[in-house]
Amino acid sequence: MIDLKSMTQEELASLAQDFGQPAFRGKQLFKWLHRGLTSVNEMTDLPKSFREVLNEKTFISAPVIEKKQVSKQDGTIKYLWRLSDGNCIETVLMKYRHGNSVCISSQVGCRMGCAFCASALGGKIRNLTPAEMLDQVLMTQIDSGEPISNIVIMGIGEPLDNYENVIKFLHLVNHPEGMAIGMRHISLSTCGLVPGIERLQDEQLQLTLSISLHAPDDETRTKLMPINKVYPVEQLLAACRCYFQKTGRRISYEYAMIDGVNDFMNQADLLAKQLRGMPSHVNLIPLNDVEESKYHPSQNVEAFQKRLEKQGVAVTVRRRLGNDIDASCGQLRRKTLTSAD
Ligand code: SAH
Repeated sequence: MIDLKSMTQEELASLAQDFGQPAFRGKQLFKWLHRGLTSVNEMTDLPKSFREVLNEKTFISAPVIEKKQVSKQDGTIKYLWRLSDGNCIETVLMKYRHGNSVCISSQVGCRMGCAFCASALGGKIRNLTPAEMLDQVLMTQIDSGEPISNIVIMGIGEPLDNYENVIKFLHLVNHPEGMAIGMRHISLSTCGLVPGIERLQDEQLQLTLSISLHAPDDETRTKLMPINKVYPVEQLLAACRCYFQKTGRRISYEYAMIDGVNDFMNQADLLAKQLRGMPSHVNLIPLNDVEESKYHPSQNVEAFQKRLEKQGVAVTVRRRLGNDIDASCGQLRRKTLTSAD
């Protein structure tokens, strides 16, 4: 079966031609799919014969809401979607003064095994298709009635470990006749897969690349993130420097503050030193407690921030949203695994 919603407008045009239709039918299909229609029978401007063949040979992905939680504190909404094969994924809608942002998953599970992250528990099950990523934005917008202006690919999964599908999703969601979300309003977060970063710079996308750094030295970083054994800090930062030179886009570094692990002042100094000369932005994240992990939130966030600022590093501390519904970083799927799977 052909996955219609994962196709570009050009691919839909040639599919239409394969079925003996003029190419412009692809444009019509694209428009309906990106408005959220889930049945070709509702696409009233397509001829009946075309709809029949589409019903026979293709499908339109349509996740169903398994659970929806709304934060009483700040209106953050967490969706648990059930996919066509029964797997579940999560999406979080966050409301900011500057617009609504949606945090989407890129895989069912994750195989990167970061020690502090709940998504790593249980490993990776499969990649998400471009349509399944698009659905998280589209269906969240339709269900909540909130127009979405920003996307962060920071939910479950490692986007650069699902490279082709993520790139295709970006082009779909950015398309002027689709949701038309500007690349500058999209952030992609990676644990630091260097070959993926090198590939991404050649796409010349205007998105914001976020690196989950979490430690400036190999000893600490390897303890927290197994991927550091493959791509150590120096190699990762060299790739980042190159990415900036090729794209002109400032990179963002995520740094989850963990008590007694990565919150020492000499680590702030080392971080400042490593980022010197490279336009960057550091985002300190108060660690979210994950029951299964031995790590706890740092008490030194403010001092760490000041120490970085003094050395000229642009740094912000991330606000916690949706705390009462476990919607914060690294907590997604924690309850899902036990309750829904
Ligand atoms: N795989 C990608 C994107 C998903 S994780 C990546 O690693 O960047 C999204 C962000 O949440 C990452 O920066 C990740 O390191 C962070 N994170 C995971 N668990 C966390 C926790 N318990 N507290 C705070 N941040 C966490």
